[in-house]
Amino acid sequence: ITLGTGVGGGIIINGKVYSGSNFAGGELGHTVIVVDGRPCTCGRHGCWETYASATGLIKTTKEHMKDAPKDSPIWTIVDGDESKVNGRTAFDAMRAGDPVGKAVVDEYIKYLSVGLTDMINIFQPAILCIGGGICNEGETLLAPVRAFIDREQYAMNSAKKTKVCKAQLGNDAGIIGAALLGKQED
Ligand SMILES: [Zn+2]
Repeated sequence: ITLGTGVGGGIIINGKVYSGSNFAGGELGHTVIVVDGRPCTCGRHGCWETYASATGLIKTTKEHMKDAPKDSPIWTIVDGDESKVNGRTAFDAMRAGDPVGKAVVDEYIKYLSVGLTDMINIFQPAILCIGGGICNEGETLLAPVRAFIDREQYAMNSAKKTKVCKAQLGNDAGIIGAALLGKQED
Protein backbone atom coordinates (compact mmCIF):
# COMPACT_ATOMS: atom_id res chain seq x y z
CA ILE A 1 0.00 0.00 0.00
CA THR A 2 1.41 3.41 -0.95
CA LEU A 3 0.12 6.55 0.72
CA GLY A 4 0.74 9.41 -1.70
CA THR A 5 -1.47 11.53 -3.93
CA GLY A 6 -3.78 8.52 -3.80
CA VAL A 7 -3.67 5.12 -2.13
CA GLY A 8 -1.84 2.70 -4.38
CA GLY A 9 -2.10 -1.04 -4.02
CA GLY A 10 -0.04 -3.97 -5.18
CA ILE A 11 -1.03 -7.58 -4.57
CA ILE A 12 1.73 -10.18 -4.85
CA ILE A 13 0.59 -13.79 -4.94
CA ASN A 14 3.17 -16.57 -5.24
CA GLY A 15 5.78 -14.03 -6.34
CA LYS A 16 3.63 -12.52 -9.10
CA VAL A 17 1.77 -9.20 -9.22
CA TYR A 18 -1.98 -9.85 -9.38
CA SER A 19 -3.51 -7.72 -12.13
CA GLY A 20 -7.02 -9.15 -12.58
CA SER A 21 -8.58 -10.31 -15.86
CA ASN A 22 -8.04 -6.94 -17.54
CA PHE A 23 -4.88 -5.54 -15.88
CA ALA A 24 -7.01 -3.16 -13.79
CA GLY A 25 -7.03 -5.26 -10.61
CA GLY A 26 -5.59 -4.11 -7.33
CA GLU A 27 -7.20 -0.65 -7.20
CA LEU A 28 -7.44 -0.98 -3.45
CA GLY A 29 -7.62 2.78 -2.91
CA HIS A 30 -10.95 2.95 -4.75
CA THR A 31 -12.89 0.84 -2.31
CA VAL A 32 -15.55 2.94 -0.58
CA ILE A 33 -15.26 3.27 3.19
CA VAL A 34 -17.72 6.19 3.63
CA VAL A 35 -20.98 5.98 1.65
CA ASP A 36 -21.71 9.41 0.09
CA GLY A 37 -18.35 10.59 1.46
CA ARG A 38 -15.70 12.78 -0.14
CA PRO A 39 -15.76 12.95 -3.96
CA CYS A 40 -13.01 10.88 -5.59
CA THR A 41 -11.16 11.39 -8.88
CA CYS A 42 -12.60 8.03 -10.05
CA GLY A 43 -16.18 9.37 -9.92
CA ARG A 44 -17.27 7.57 -6.77
CA HIS A 45 -17.71 9.08 -3.31
CA GLY A 46 -16.02 8.05 -0.10
CA CYS A 47 -13.16 6.02 -1.59
CA TRP A 48 -10.53 4.93 0.91
CA GLU A 49 -7.92 7.08 -0.83
CA THR A 50 -9.90 10.30 -0.32
CA TYR A 51 -9.25 9.82 3.43
CA ALA A 52 -6.08 7.74 3.75
CA SER A 53 -3.83 9.31 1.09
CA ALA A 54 -1.50 12.23 1.83
CA THR A 55 -4.00 14.37 -0.08
CA GLY A 56 -6.78 13.12 2.20
CA LEU A 57 -4.69 13.82 5.30
CA ILE A 58 -4.04 17.39 4.12
CA LYS A 59 -7.79 17.86 3.50
CA THR A 60 -8.64 16.56 6.98
CA THR A 61 -5.96 18.81 8.51
CA LYS A 62 -7.38 21.91 6.80
CA GLU A 63 -10.95 20.99 7.83
CA HIS A 64 -9.96 20.75 11.50
CA MET A 65 -7.80 23.91 11.38
CA LYS A 66 -10.83 26.03 10.54
CA ASP A 67 -12.02 25.70 14.15
CA ALA A 68 -8.57 26.01 15.76
CA PRO A 69 -7.34 29.29 17.30
CA LYS A 70 -4.92 31.12 15.00
CA ASP A 71 -2.24 31.17 17.73
CA SER A 72 -2.36 27.38 18.24
CA PRO A 73 0.64 25.20 17.26
CA ILE A 74 -1.06 23.79 14.14
CA TRP A 75 -1.37 27.32 12.70
CA THR A 76 2.06 28.46 13.98
CA ILE A 77 3.76 25.50 12.24
CA VAL A 78 2.49 26.74 8.86
CA ASP A 79 3.12 30.45 9.66
CA GLY A 80 -0.65 31.06 9.57
CA ASP A 81 -0.69 30.06 5.87
CA GLU A 82 -3.12 27.26 5.00
CA SER A 83 -1.35 26.63 1.68
CA LYS A 84 1.71 25.43 3.64
CA VAL A 85 -0.20 22.50 5.18
CA ASN A 86 1.36 19.17 4.22
CA GLY A 87 1.30 15.56 5.35
CA ARG A 88 3.54 16.32 8.35
CA THR A 89 1.62 19.32 9.73
CA ALA A 90 -0.84 17.41 11.94
CA PHE A 91 1.88 15.05 13.25
CA ASP A 92 4.19 18.00 14.07
CA ALA A 93 1.30 19.83 15.79
CA MET A 94 0.48 16.70 17.82
CA ARG A 95 4.11 16.48 18.95
CA ALA A 96 3.89 20.16 19.96
CA GLY A 97 0.96 19.25 22.21
CA ASP A 98 -1.80 20.60 19.96
CA PRO A 99 -5.15 18.82 20.57
CA VAL A 100 -6.29 19.64 17.02
CA GLY A 101 -3.17 17.97 15.61
CA LYS A 102 -3.88 14.92 17.79
CA ALA A 103 -7.52 14.82 16.62
CA VAL A 104 -6.44 14.94 12.96
CA VAL A 105 -3.85 12.18 13.45
CA ASP A 106 -6.37 10.01 15.34
CA GLU A 107 -8.95 10.46 12.58
CA TYR A 108 -6.37 9.76 9.87
CA ILE A 109 -5.18 6.58 11.59
CA LYS A 110 -8.79 5.41 11.96
CA TYR A 111 -9.56 5.81 8.24
CA LEU A 112 -6.24 4.29 7.20
CA SER A 113 -6.69 1.34 9.56
CA VAL A 114 -10.31 0.65 8.54
CA GLY A 115 -9.17 0.18 4.94
CA LEU A 116 -6.10 -1.84 5.90
CA THR A 117 -8.26 -4.13 8.03
CA ASP A 118 -10.62 -4.61 5.05
CA MET A 119 -7.66 -5.60 2.87
CA ILE A 120 -6.33 -7.98 5.51
CA ASN A 121 -9.78 -9.57 5.87
CA ILE A 122 -9.87 -10.19 2.11
CA PHE A 123 -6.30 -11.36 1.50
CA GLN A 124 -4.86 -12.40 4.90
CA PRO A 125 -1.43 -11.61 3.46
CA ALA A 126 1.75 -12.80 5.15
CA ILE A 127 3.06 -9.25 4.99
CA LEU A 128 1.58 -5.83 4.31
CA CYS A 129 4.09 -3.06 3.54
CA ILE A 130 3.10 0.58 3.77
CA GLY A 131 5.02 3.12 1.68
CA GLY A 132 4.88 6.83 0.92
CA GLY A 133 6.14 9.91 2.73
CA ILE A 134 3.71 9.53 5.66
CA CYS A 135 5.59 6.36 6.65
CA ASN A 136 8.50 8.54 7.73
CA GLU A 137 6.42 9.00 10.90
CA GLY A 138 7.54 5.43 11.68
CA GLU A 139 6.05 3.87 14.82
CA THR A 140 4.04 7.04 15.57
CA LEU A 141 1.93 5.88 12.65
CA LEU A 142 2.48 2.13 12.59
CA ALA A 143 2.01 1.26 16.29
CA PRO A 144 -1.59 2.58 16.52
CA VAL A 145 -2.37 1.13 13.08
CA ARG A 146 -1.25 -2.34 14.26
CA ALA A 147 -3.28 -1.97 17.48
CA PHE A 148 -6.41 -1.05 15.46
CA ILE A 149 -5.94 -4.01 13.11
CA ASP A 150 -5.40 -6.36 16.08
CA ARG A 151 -8.70 -5.20 17.60
CA GLU A 152 -10.80 -5.42 14.45
CA GLN A 153 -9.49 -7.99 11.99
CA TYR A 154 -11.50 -11.18 11.53
CA ALA A 155 -8.58 -13.55 12.15
CA MET A 156 -7.54 -11.79 15.38
CA ASN A 157 -7.28 -15.13 17.18
CA SER A 158 -5.20 -16.81 14.50
CA ALA A 159 -1.65 -17.75 15.45
CA LYS A 160 -0.47 -16.53 12.04
CA LYS A 161 -1.09 -12.83 11.61
CA THR A 162 -0.24 -10.33 8.89
CA LYS A 163 3.00 -8.50 9.55
CA VAL A 164 2.46 -4.77 9.04
CA CYS A 165 5.65 -2.83 8.32
CA LYS A 166 7.16 0.12 6.51
CA ALA A 167 8.09 -0.51 2.87
CA GLN A 168 11.88 -0.65 2.52
CA LEU A 169 12.45 0.84 -0.93
CA GLY A 170 10.86 4.25 -0.33
CA ASN A 171 10.52 6.47 -3.39
CA ASP A 172 12.67 4.09 -5.46
CA ALA A 173 10.05 1.29 -5.29
CA GLY A 174 8.48 2.13 -8.66
CA ILE A 175 11.71 2.32 -10.62
CA ILE A 176 13.17 -0.83 -9.01
CA GLY A 177 9.92 -2.69 -9.71
CA ALA A 178 9.99 -1.60 -13.35
CA ALA A 179 13.61 -2.77 -13.69
CA LEU A 180 12.72 -6.17 -12.21
CA LEU A 181 9.79 -6.57 -14.65
CA GLY A 182 12.28 -6.12 -17.52
CA LYS A 183 14.54 -8.74 -15.94
CA GLN A 184 11.66 -11.26 -15.72
CA GLU A 185 11.17 -11.07 -19.48
CA ASP A 186 14.80 -11.99 -20.25
ZN1 LIG B 1 -12.14 6.40 -6.10
